[in-house]
Amino acid sequence: MASKIRLFIDTPLTLGQTLELSEAQSHYLCNVMKLKLDDIFLGFDGTSGEYEVQIIKQNKKHIEIKVLQKQRNFISSPDVWLIFAPVKKDQTDFIIQKSVELGVSKLIPAITRYTISDKTKTERFVAQSIEAAEQCRRLDVPEVERAKSLSEILSNWDSSRRLYYMDESRTGTPVREAFSQAPAPIAILVGPEGGFSEDELKHLRQQDFATGVTLGPRILRAETAVVSALSCWQALSGDWVNYKEQI
Ligand code: SAH
Repeated sequence: MASKIRLFIDTPLTLGQTLELSEAQSHYLCNVMKLKLDDIFLGFDGTSGEYEVQIIKQNKKHIEIKVLQKQRNFISSPDVWLIFAPVKKDQTDFIIQKSVELGVSKLIPAITRYTISDKTKTERFVAQSIEAAEQCRRLDVPEVERAKSLSEILSNWDSSRRLYYMDESRTGTPVREAFSQAPAPIAILVGPEGGFSEDELKHLRQQDFATGVTLGPRILRAETAVVSALSCWQALSGDWVNYKEQI
């Protein structure tokens, strides 16, 4: 059986192809995961599927691999974006990891009035989202945008994508009603620990493309709201609906 190790290889893969991996990936496979010459692992390129690949050369810093056979055909995640206000470091890590597992196609850090973290490290977010995609057996890796202000995000909005903002004032549409008929493309917006400001809520309520959603009677932490909103959407209108593994 092929090893469970799964690696995102950021270049289109084709059967029989040989390629050299980056120093960082070579180090991870050989020194951390202790793979050796001839060992087989899984590689996916984010565009064409998942393959068994074999280590065919081990140089000092780089390994060379060969693409042996296709294991799974490509399927993309649903077109759902998560717009989130970065919170404290561990909670932001959690938001990224869990939202990737829950199938988001794009992550957009948003700076709102009460966002506490002005240091948003896009590179760190990218690395974390790749790691989460490798772990959860996704076949694609979400795009991560650089942080933007909420007003910039809203002023450039393409209204063919409905925006669902999680409204802690609990005046929004109940989540089941909101997400029952909410086919992709959509975006989910969750506020920071301090919540949205009155002005932000007012501005959101004025947008034709936006719907306020309530997640029940309790105030959730931002990271809980992210996981709850994405899970509800996946179950009601996303790729959990009627999902059965094709064997
Ligand atoms: N400090 C705020 C709470 C912010 S919770 C207060 O006490 O009012 C952080 C974010 O999670 C909110 O901005 C909102 O997007 C989301 N959220 C939390 N609880 C929610 C609920 N019951 N319904 C909808 N969204 C919620």
